[in-house]
Amino acid sequence: MLTDNYGRRFYYLRLSITDVCNFRCDYCLPDGYQCDHDRDFLSLAEIQRLATAFASLGTEKIRITGGEPSLRKDLPQILESCKSTPGIKKLAITTNGYKLNSQIQDWIDAGLDALNVSIDSLDPRLFQSITGHDKLQEILSGIDKALTLGLTQVKVNTVLMRQYNGADIDTFLNFIKETPVTLRFIELMQTGDNHTFFTEQHVQGSRIKQQLILAGWQPVIKEKSSGPAQEFYHPDYRGKIGLIMPYSKDFCASCNRLRISALGKLHLCLFADQGLSLREHLQSDDQAPLINAISHLLTDKKATHFLQQQLTGATKNLAMLGG
Ligand code: SAM
Ligand code: SF4
Repeated sequence: MLTDNYGRRFYYLRLSITDVCNFRCDYCLPDGYQCDHDRDFLSLAEIQRLATAFASLGTEKIRITGGEPSLRKDLPQILESCKSTPGIKKLAITTNGYKLNSQIQDWIDAGLDALNVSIDSLDPRLFQSITGHDKLQEILSGIDKALTLGLTQVKVNTVLMRQYNGADIDTFLNFIKETPVTLRFIELMQTGDNHTFFTEQHVQGSRIKQQLILAGWQPVIKEKSSGPAQEFYHPDYRGKIGLIMPYSKDFCASCNRLRISALGKLHLCLFADQGLSLREHLQSDDQAPLINAISHLLTDKKATHFLQQQLTGATKNLAMLGG
């Protein structure tokens, strides 16, 4: 099992398959996708080799992310290849939902177990203002379709922003009253590119946590392998609430994930100083050099990120790496 110098185990891999995105979220790619490198993204064969190596090191869960992963035409093949890797028990995706309605059946057929969709406002006008796309209703109907098709693990990611949703969580609570999804409020994180936006918009998740507890929400008991999200349930609601608070004390203590960029670099932290290329080891089916490289590089993983000190590492925006 991949274990770092602090005893943390890494059973979860976040694998970015493209950094291209068609949305322009204010906090991520406000000017849209700008290409400043070759679009030489991991091929299906390279992805298969990575999945096999990580699985043999104890990885049980892979999340496909991006940029927007559904922009890759071979997404169903990628999903199928990851899910059929011996040792991989859970396959998830994070998407902006643009192609959810038309593609979810294919993703489920390919073996998808869990779906995260990003929705920062349930007001269509605000949604359009944040993302640049008038797609909220279509994305919501994509979520309904996923639930109707029997997908049981559906989450909605909502980045907290003062201007858009920080003051009013009731609309989101109403949404999960009858919709059996976990809605996760994510504290806005500072990245290399969003300093001013971050300073103006960051809202602490702890205020929402207090509100929830006062309203009778109860913490879900965490499993040993749970990551840093805190989850809450309420008997009157079919959905749950999650809080992801990267600025809170001890957030990194339960880190259980590693990240691979679409260019095949291992990022030991979302805010690491650099990605460490594995590409040379992905060119043949010989797994030993790849496995050795991953195990060796992991010894460099730091105990925490340095976001409190405004150090965002090499991460200009999260589309580079998949969040
Ligand atoms: N395009 C897909 C999507 O939006 O779901 C996948 C990639 S996106 C980078 C993954 C997640 O990171 C999304 O839920 C997004 O809202 C979140 N995210 C992006 N930038 C962020 C930031 N600066 N702070 C917090 N969350 C962020
Ligand atoms: Fe694209 Fe996701 Fe970034 Fe929005 S958060 S711009 S959908 S990568």
